[in-house]
Amino acid sequence: MPVESALFFETPEEIYARVFSALKPRTSPPRFAVEFCRFANPDSLARLSEGCITVRISDLLEGAPSPVHEALAYILLGKLLRRPVAPAYARRYRLYLNRRDIRRSVDLVRQIRGRKFISGPQGTRFNLETAFEELNFQYFHGLMARPLLGWSRRPSRTTLGHYDPSHNAIVISKLLDSPLAPPLALEYVLFHEMLHLRYPVQTRGARRSIHTRELREAERAFAGLKEAKELLKRL
Ligand SMILES: [Zn+2]
Repeated sequence: MPVESALFFETPEEIYARVFSALKPRTSPPRFAVEFCRFANPDSLARLSEGCITVRISDLLEGAPSPVHEALAYILLGKLLRRPVAPAYARRYRLYLNRRDIRRSVDLVRQIRGRKFISGPQGTRFNLETAFEELNFQYFHGLMARPLLGWSRRPSRTTLGHYDPSHNAIVISKLLDSPLAPPLALEYVLFHEMLHLRYPVQTRGARRSIHTRELREAERAFAGLKEAKELLKRL
């Protein structure tokens, strides 16, 4: 019990320092730098250079509970320090990755990062997550769950935005991140894609309605709608 509650309050760096001491009790632990990176896979690695151990962990594991981070710390440091590691840690880590929800998000991120995105939400000028949250706050009471957001590989003129319901992802054309694109153009396109998330495709008999009446009506709430549409024509 004291161990569990101690785990809860540890930072990742503290977990790694503690695990280091468990594996190499007579050596004082070096400095640790733990980074979460946008890898396409849940791969992680630890490297020692100039008295500092840098650990890079997939951001897929950022929300993992402390015992999972502890298990991963044993696996990574065991490999780095060539120390045997109790099989229980490998098992704990594997069990976590095999959880249905985790496996699903690993698959999803692999597909999307591998295929459609060259980068995450951070563009050269705009950050899609920031833009999403501003629109979310302004038009959706901040209640919309954030999908995966990314810039397209190429600056497409024909598809400025796309919502992919099977991956729960919004992809925005890199064109809207260019120095010439006004912020309003990005805001409008992202807002429109958010409406697709809010108002799913309706099927009535053989007819599929993508831009439903509800969607069209909701779109009118956008401040600067006319101006934005004009901007897009000129882009
Ligand atoms: Zn649309």
